[in-house]
Amino acid sequence: MHNTVTLADLLARLLQAVYNKMYIYLGVVSLKLCDMHVHSNFSADGLENMETMCLEAVKKKIDCMAFTEHWEVSPSPTGESYYIKREDDRTREYKRVTDKFGGKLQILFGIELGQPHHNPKQAENLILNGGFDFILGSLHIYRSSDGKYRDVYYVNYNEIKPDIMFIDYFKDLFSMVSYGGFDVIAHLDYPLRVLEGYIDQPTVKDYMDLIDFILKKAVDKGIGIEIGTRGLSDWQKRVGPENFVLKRYRELGGEIVTTGSDSHVKGQLGFGLAEACNAARKAGFSHIAYYKNRKPVFAEIGE
Ligand SMILES: [Zn+2]
Ligand SMILES: [Zn+2]
Repeated sequence: MHNTVTLADLLARLLQAVYNKMYIYLGVVSLKLCDMHVHSNFSADGLENMETMCLEAVKKKIDCMAFTEHWEVSPSPTGESYYIKREDDRTREYKRVTDKFGGKLQILFGIELGQPHHNPKQAENLILNGGFDFILGSLHIYRSSDGKYRDVYYVNYNEIKPDIMFIDYFKDLFSMVSYGGFDVIAHLDYPLRVLEGYIDQPTVKDYMDLIDFILKKAVDKGIGIEIGTRGLSDWQKRVGPENFVLKRYRELGGEIVTTGSDSHVKGQLGFGLAEACNAARKAGFSHIAYYKNRKPVFAEIGE
């Protein structure tokens, strides 16, 4: 009897492994340009309405795009709220543009969830009831070792050295990934955006020991990594995170990378997606992912 149970258990595990592989295999679709990180004016810092972004996506021959409006759940040191709380309007407008552009563009209903682990109750409620296709997890505001909440954009880097911030930032990012509840880590190297003039090179190479913990946890939890194109147009001059981060995630068994522009205006939409696909390929990925109903769908990266 004992042996039968063990055998059943083994069979179940085997079936699960086969199912996972089959899922990836069956999920393969033809090459897609996917912008999985787009803001409309339902985000406080988004400048264009959803329709304008959809028109731009069609013009640029983007295949799929996720609206990922900001929703910050942690206490904001600046008191700013980055989400315009018009959820009904947002859902209605999303439905309208989906109907209008449905034949030409796959539009996904996402959210950029800021710091879910800082306010688990609010985050849980949102995750359970939001009806999202896709949830990006972001750390814009980190809890530092002195217990204070600091916004990466508003830290005085003459007072708090970038090195100290990075260590606190990556430790808190580890806490966020350990908490989970989202699909993909957005802009893992986010602080680089604001450190021009404070550090010599736009790199996170000195923090790979901390990043390693984050990547291992992400792999364990089936969480993906975003390859963001924002850095292409600033001092970084490349997509991010850097190749060695993506490569390490792949080595550890990570399979999910998404591509996104983090655009807040139409000009940025879809910018550099081909470079992001290239970075994925260089790091050893044969597919990029997009999400439908919180499940990854894998699209092969062509030559
Ligand atoms: Zn963000
Ligand atoms: Zn964003």
